[in-house]
Amino acid sequence: MLLPVHDDTHVTPTEATSTAVALTLHQLMEGVVLAAAYVAGGVVGLIAALFLTAHTVVETAAVGTAYVVAGQYKRGGIAVVFMQTVYVIAAVIAFRSALAVPPAAEHITTAIVGSVLLIVGIHSCRCVIDDSISYS
Ligand SMILES: [Zn+2]
Repeated sequence: MLLPVHDDTHVTPTEATSTAVALTLHQLMEGVVLAAAYVAGGVVGLIAALFLTAHTVVETAAVGTAYVVAGQYKRGGIAVVFMQTVYVIAAVIAFRSALAVPPAAEHITTAIVGSVLLIVGIHSCRCVIDDSISYS
């Protein structure tokens, strides 16, 4: 994901907040994908869940760093906690919704989940690479 923060030494509070908002919405989707990974189960689900967790840590650190550079320590702490809360709540809601799927629709759901995991996996690789370039 291309972040609005390009230079570590000049981050305004507004830029830090826009980064936090963008990544919170992004992690809302990733929480849903995490639930999908659990539902998919097996090695694919486990790898996807582990990868998403590592990826989320990188994104959360990026937001924390943006606030620290902007000198907004308290807001940074709040943003980090808020992002993680949104991620977990999205995962729980999606997981409960997935459990409500009738057994007959399970194969179709598994196929859709597999496709989503593939797309998000590719997207996540790009996120981590972009984050590493932006914050290293
Ligand atoms: Zn992400």
